Amino acid sequence: MKKIICLFIFTIFIFQNSFALIADTHTDFYKYYKGKTICINAGHQKKGNLELEDSSPVINKKKAKVTYGANGESKINLTVSKILKEEFEALGAKVIMIRETEDVNISNKERALMGNKADLVLNIHCNAADNQKAAGIWLLIPSEKNVGEKSICEPSKKLASLIEKQMSKKHTVKTFERDDLTGLNWSTVPSIFIECGFLTNKDDKKFLENMDSYLTSDMRYDFIDSIMIGVTDFLKEDYVEEEIVEEDNKLLDDNFIISLIFSLFGLRR
Ligand SMILES: [Zn+2]
Repeated sequence: MKKIICLFIFTIFIFQNSFALIADTHTDFYKYYKGKTICINAGHQKKGNLELEDSSPVINKKKAKVTYGANGESKINLTVSKILKEEFEALGAKVIMIRETEDVNISNKERALMGNKADLVLNIHCNAADNQKAAGIWLLIPSEKNVGEKSICEPSKKLASLIEKQMSKKHTVKTFERDDLTGLNWSTVPSIFIECGFLTNKDDKKFLENMDSYLTSDMRYDFIDSIMIGVTDFLKEDYVEEEIVEEDNKLLDDNFIISLIFSLFGLRR
């Protein structure tokens, strides 16, 4: 009996400690997201809108407002975006979702302008290629050539590199600069495209189409997790530790307790 009681107490001790550890890690991540807004743009929509709009504020070139994208892409983009929304909100961030349904009509320029209210933008897409062997994740970053707000190029590159650093542990990832993407050219905050894989590749397609149901898949977990860690590392770089106000609080608490004791005994201070 004594042994069982000892074991019971020991188990509670271990559990208590491990819970504290999880809570600590979470709190650590949480602080970087305080007051931060993340915009998630699920690329494309149910139907493309091939009317034209300016593709950049600095060059005179028009492009379709929003194309149809690869076959089945818009739905997968939305699934991935919704998973990310949940993850970022769990860490305390405010999330701007450009769309939460398939049935919308929002141009790429309009999306970029909506995203400019956030601290950073993740544009979620899937790739396609004639070569069925083309596979892996691509990260696309703005180029100084056509982007209106040149100062976003460096931080966008940094954000992509931090995500790539994590993601490349389990996935094939490449980063490219692009000057032809309306969504990047109109951005005034750090913005990147995450092309989550090639829908024209058998293995990538399987991974992408099962994004929602592969809840326990290591690949899916690693993919989402690497985006989360990359963004957290990015926010960490600008993070300024809040001033320690603990001393003041303690003083307040002490005064409050002393006042309470005095009032309980009907005394005046
Ligand atoms: Zn796309």
